[in-house]
Amino acid sequence: MPGYGKVSAVLRSLNGAGVITKEIRDANFMLERLEMKKQLTDLSGYISVAKMELSLLQESIDEKDSELTRLAEALTYKGNVKRRGDGYYRTLDNRPYGQPYCSYCWEQDQRLIHLHNRVLSNDIRICPHCKNEYQNTRTPYIEADLLAV
Ligand SMILES: [Zn+2]
Repeated sequence: MPGYGKVSAVLRSLNGAGVITKEIRDANFMLERLEMKKQLTDLSGYISVAKMELSLLQESIDEKDSELTRLAEALTYKGNVKRRGDGYYRTLDNRPYGQPYCSYCWEQDQRLIHLHNRVLSNDIRICPHCKNEYQNTRTPYIEADLLAV
């Protein structure tokens, strides 16, 4: 059903529950048994929908929280990664070192994804996220120790 996980949908459900409560109160709690049963069923329906919408809303908030955390990390790394060849690397004294990150994922989504060697191949690296392939020679592992020499 459209509108789930939206504050407006939660409010609409709670409003429906409020209307039923008012009807019961206006009848001075003296409804026919069948009418009372129908009102309580509707009331319980509105509450269930509101609960479901709230849990979807919570999921969406959690997703946004983790996206914010990811973006904050990306901002932190932004000045600390550098492109070399076809990969991105962390830097030490502004020089790249370590395992290469996927350049596509970094440039497109600011995600730092380490490249893996493709199974049965020493020449090709692959990004486990976007599946782009890179030549090993264009994305070498760079020993940090060599930088000190
Ligand atoms: Zn990638």
